Amino acid sequence: MVTPALPSRLPGVGTTIFTVMSRLANEHGAINLSQGFPDFAPPGLLLERVTHHMQAGANQYPPMTGVPALREAIAEKLERLYDARYDVENEITVTAGATQALFTAISACVRPGDEVIVFAPVYDSYIPAIELAGGRARVVNLAPPHFRPDWGEVAAAITPQTRMIVLNTPHNPTGTVWTADDMEALAGLVRDTDIVLLGDEVYEHILYTGRHESLARLPELRERSFVVSSFGKTYHITGWKIAYCAAPAELMREFRKVHQFNVFTVHHPAQLALADFMRAEPGFADGLAEFYRAKRDFFRQQLAGSRFDPLPCDGTYFLLARYDRISDLPDSEFVRWLTIEKGVAAIPVSAFMPDGRQDRLIRFCFAKNEVTLAAAGERLRAV
Ligand code: PMP
Ligand code: GLN
Repeated sequence: MVTPALPSRLPGVGTTIFTVMSRLANEHGAINLSQGFPDFAPPGLLLERVTHHMQAGANQYPPMTGVPALREAIAEKLERLYDARYDVENEITVTAGATQALFTAISACVRPGDEVIVFAPVYDSYIPAIELAGGRARVVNLAPPHFRPDWGEVAAAITPQTRMIVLNTPHNPTGTVWTADDMEALAGLVRDTDIVLLGDEVYEHILYTGRHESLARLPELRERSFVVSSFGKTYHITGWKIAYCAAPAELMREFRKVHQFNVFTVHHPAQLALADFMRAEPGFADGLAEFYRAKRDFFRQQLAGSRFDPLPCDGTYFLLARYDRISDLPDSEFVRWLTIEKGVAAIPVSAFMPDGRQDRLIRFCFAKNEVTLAAAGERLRAV
């Protein structure tokens, strides 16, 4: 038997940096500040509810679009936070993580020859999804240390082929948060076009300045947007892989055509548990910013006196740091060395750069207990 030669559909892609670095951290017993996930428990009530629903028999397929109680809770949240009304039946779909929502929205919109504007550093899943759909990513670079979008550059990247713009605020990995002015600038650029927007808003509750400018907020943007958030980030359950997408009915109709064939539906007891939890504790997410601000500040204090130079962080649970006072290695080699020799794993920012740009920056995840951050700080101060 001979396995047929299979020309790769993603020839430039290897294994994700998050998998690579978490594996290396585990192999070497390093403190893992690389892949983004909390090392603390989700709320006890959420665990109690998911167990309850499994015992009570919610173990078969839920509705394709998500259980009504969860879609209702999502609609209420979107209205409360962004004054945005989404129809529970036709405009909200529960997904198997934000990754699937993003992939599904891109698959539903992008055809061969279409262009999609993305901002670099760019989250790793966007460009492969665009390319699998036959599209081409047009990359607009964000420059350190503030990584703010240059709207002149965005305007210059728009062509008659532009089908979609993907944005991510608060931004992984830079922690940049888009302002109301950014949203106005974006609205001005897409007005009178057929460009669709895809908002990766998984860190919507984790920001330390201003307010979250959701695409759902401005009616002019909402009417052309897929808005994606992830319960993984909000409720400390990244391993549950559960999220949602909200969009106007015309866009959601196309989204669901793809969704029903690439996942069909999502873990039933988890959906019911989240619906219960959101009803019982509607304010939980409002406390996240203060919760993570304390961690960010604690971790920054840990880095004081080290030779790492942290950059500003206005949102997300990631902190970028320069290491040029320590080493002139490229970032991907530096993080290997840091993991193996110094016992702390981080993510090289060049992994988010389609052109491999080297800014000598690494990303630490501070969604950790203080004991973890303190132990990492002790090791990092010794580097
Ligand atoms: N987008 C961004 C910017 C992320 O950081 C992540 C996960 N860390 C995702 C999407 C994927 O979220 P999920 O785990 O819900 O698929
Ligand atoms: N989004 C997470 C991060 O940025 C990782 C998710 C994954 O491993 N795919 O670290």
